[in-house]
Amino acid sequence: MTGDSWADRSDRDLGMDCRIPRRDFLNGMALAIGGLALPDWFSSLDLSGQAPEQAAYYPPALTGMRGNHDGAFAHAHALRDHAFWTSAGAPKPTGERYDLVVVGAGLSGLAAAHFYRQQVGARARVLILDNHDDFGGHAKRNEFQVGGRTMLGYGGTQSIESPAKYSSVAKRLLVELGVETKRFYQAYDQALYSSLNLGTGVFFDRETFGTDRLVAGMGSPSWPAFLAKAPLSVAARRDISRVYTENVDYLAGRSRAAKRALLAKTSYADFLTKIVKLDPAVLPFFQTRTNDLWGVGIEAVPALACFEQGDDYGNPLPGFEAMGLREGETGGKEEPYIFHFPDGNASLARLLVRRLLPEAIPGHTMEDIVTARADYGRLDDSRSAVRIRLNSTVVRVRHTGPAKDGVEVAYMRGGVLQTVRGAGCILACYNGMIPHLCPELPEPQRNALAYGVKTPLIYTHVALRNWSAFQRLGVNQIIAPGSYHPYVALDFPVSLGGYKFPSRPEEPMVLFLLRTPCKPGLSQREQHRAGRAELLETNFATFERNIRDQLARMLIPAGFDPARDIEAITVNRWAHGYSYSYNSLFDPEWPKPERPHIVGRQRFGRIAIANADAGASAYTDVAINQAHRAVGELVSARK
Ligand SMILES: Cc1cc2nc3c(=O)[nH]c(=O)nc-3n(C[C@H](O)[C@H](O)[C@H](O)COP(=O)(O)OP(=O)(O)OC[C@H]3O[C@@H](n4cnc5c(N)ncnc54)[C@H](O)[C@@H]3O)c2cc1C
Repeated sequence: MTGDSWADRSDRDLGMDCRIPRRDFLNGMALAIGGLALPDWFSSLDLSGQAPEQAAYYPPALTGMRGNHDGAFAHAHALRDHAFWTSAGAPKPTGERYDLVVVGAGLSGLAAAHFYRQQVGARARVLILDNHDDFGGHAKRNEFQVGGRTMLGYGGTQSIESPAKYSSVAKRLLVELGVETKRFYQAYDQALYSSLNLGTGVFFDRETFGTDRLVAGMGSPSWPAFLAKAPLSVAARRDISRVYTENVDYLAGRSRAAKRALLAKTSYADFLTKIVKLDPAVLPFFQTRTNDLWGVGIEAVPALACFEQGDDYGNPLPGFEAMGLREGETGGKEEPYIFHFPDGNASLARLLVRRLLPEAIPGHTMEDIVTARADYGRLDDSRSAVRIRLNSTVVRVRHTGPAKDGVEVAYMRGGVLQTVRGAGCILACYNGMIPHLCPELPEPQRNALAYGVKTPLIYTHVALRNWSAFQRLGVNQIIAPGSYHPYVALDFPVSLGGYKFPSRPEEPMVLFLLRTPCKPGLSQREQHRAGRAELLETNFATFERNIRDQLARMLIPAGFDPARDIEAITVNRWAHGYSYSYNSLFDPEWPKPERPHIVGRQRFGRIAIANADAGASAYTDVAINQAHRAVGELVSARK
């Protein structure tokens, strides 16, 4: 049976009527969609909204729409729309006072709490507030139960990337958390997929390329041989092959600096068609190769950035090999992309929580954190010096008198507007939110904070009964340039502590699917705004149908049955995903001190600003570095 004969699959063929769990959280309360059974622990929850994290509350096990789950952003959007305070009424003081209140329980907020206690003392009282039902920010854990075993996935922040390049502060934090990155060389089975003869395939979809076809072995045994099987025009095959195989300096005669300056102002799409002079028919093949790293397609990403970073799947973007763009050697071997816990950097968040609140997560090592079950009932315990309060959207942070008297923080939790006081406050939420929280900030600072637009991303995980279809097709990852999800991959093969990777194709698997909603033709920031609007309008059923349809079209020829083989789906929706990094195609070249993230992150009285946005770079080490800077600023202000 060919993929095409499934073109008109019904919802039933796709398994839309199958009873997979689809549980979401809404306003801090779990809901079952479609009359499905609720987890046992749900019935013991206090749903008054004041204490939803008691009893067996355990958000990592929820499936359905996660990430920015429903209920997490309603108050923030009301604030943005100037609608919040018109109906909020007067906040109720809780009477609680802290040395530090942190807004945001992502890696930056958790690290800020850790650094603060290091600098001020372990007895310092710290409250961390977050609007989500779980801690970690983007570093979130997804759990699945398949065939009697627990399978893990990463809701967002995926891996510790290039730890050798981390700052001394970030390296030291890893050590303090017990993370020895060299252990991943054993934990990550780098040979698994190649030992099974699996590699990268390309799925050509009929809407873009005229027919549905999966071609395995990207670029092998040679580019012409691979492309001969692809539904592409003669010109497209010839030119894709050319750019991958010929060794030409397309800007010969110019200095390295002149080449780099030109490529910084040329999109990769224009580089291919105007400088390498490929037929425009090649563009659909490359269009979404930049989506994972930049959240936009090749028409909005500078060619220079494509040269420097490649795509995110281990394949360099072609055309630069002979152009002499890099000076000398790169200074040592690049580290492999293997520093991955089975739940991604959620393990770092969990290690930080364990450090702050040892009673909330048992264990002592980077191995036992993988399977340790967090006790959410211990996060917000009045007996602890550190408290983490979830399902709490901060709506205002202000000095109510002289700065030295500290800060009042107002937040919504369980429908109640309440306040706490802190001697200081660190905003580890994200830059775009801060002007709404702190209208007293100077206008230039508010404008600077509002400049960057975070990248919307969807990280979907699908729990499969087995991964035999991938083995039959000879692929462990699929680039799908025109599809709803332009990238689909089997999980990273990592076994750590008690967690064993399902290395046999007949075992269950957590599959990863990426989507970055965007609108080609606009600037990067406008594309992100359009993508975010799309996310708000897309419900779980739409995602589910697209997931099932795409997997069917790619995998049915290898015996996959979406109605039979899909056990659970978690769509991690990140409307405010990667921190905005400047794009040389669209952004001015400000002198460093005038860059919006530098202007925006200045301390204001007893309020300091952390989060990866404050470093204009979407990486874990940046979130950590910014936390350290913010703590330093706040502690100095106390002296
Ligand atoms: C899908 C995805 C994948 C990524 N993969 C990687 C990777 O592999 N490696 C890497 O190094 N980096 C990766 N990143 C970058 C990642 O953002 C950083 O690594 C890091 O996790 C950011 O941490 P943070 O604390 O700065 O921000 P966040 O994780 O965004 O945490 C901020 C928290 O503050 C909360 N908040 C916001 N406003 C309020 C409010 N008003 N009240 C209460 N709480 C509020 C937010 O909801 C959030 O929970 C990825 C990012 C995304 C989105």
